[in-house]
Amino acid sequence: MSRSAVARGWLPVIPGPPVGEPAGAADSGGRCADPAGTWLGMRWRNQLRWRVNEQTIPAYLGDRARVVQSLRSAATTVDTGRNDCGLPANLGIDESYAGRTDHRAGVTAAGGCGERDGHNAVSFGRLEQGLLAVTCIWWFGGKENGRSVEADILIDDTEGLFFTTTPADCASRWDLEGTVTHEFGHAFGLGHVPFAEHGTQTMTDGLPDCSTAYRGLGLGDYLTLKQQYGTN
Ligand SMILES: [Zn+2]
Repeated sequence: MSRSAVARGWLPVIPGPPVGEPAGAADSGGRCADPAGTWLGMRWRNQLRWRVNEQTIPAYLGDRARVVQSLRSAATTVDTGRNDCGLPANLGIDESYAGRTDHRAGVTAAGGCGERDGHNAVSFGRLEQGLLAVTCIWWFGGKENGRSVEADILIDDTEGLFFTTTPADCASRWDLEGTVTHEFGHAFGLGHVPFAEHGTQTMTDGLPDCSTAYRGLGLGDYLTLKQQYGTN
């Protein structure tokens, strides 16, 4: 369903069919050779100030400060365009971590969007099986060229689902930082690219377990952000 005709809207970004059209040739050639990316439509015109609900961080992840550091590192990656391809980290994105909040992400367990509450919250909570994390974006104006006004990220709190440092004998566990880098990509407007063709990009719709390879941006992730936010 298109929401481009309404003055405001919301969008849950969950693993599923890719949104939009590839920004470039779709030939996958590895993380720094594949230019594919998709754009959701809306973007930020001002700074995205976000907070973490530390009370919701599951105990199994250990030190909360360490967890918050992973989240902040993920946001910084998208903010600056930190990448694995030697490209300049100079994207014109503006975000800042504003500390703790008691607010929770406005994301339902089924991966839908709830009410926007004026706070950009990252929190942990229940998500139905198969969803690692979901980002909801609220915006004004049409979806195409809309102005983003809120983004919330809900991360599944299932015991043992994530790690901050790859554990020995890792199986069916996911890198928290790489996952959240992907979610901040959504928060700023990136859509998915299909895993089968573009699985090396951070915006792939399927993140492999036990891999920390998604903490930076791939070429397609980078180029798509640069096209929207870059100053050159
Ligand atoms: Zn996603």
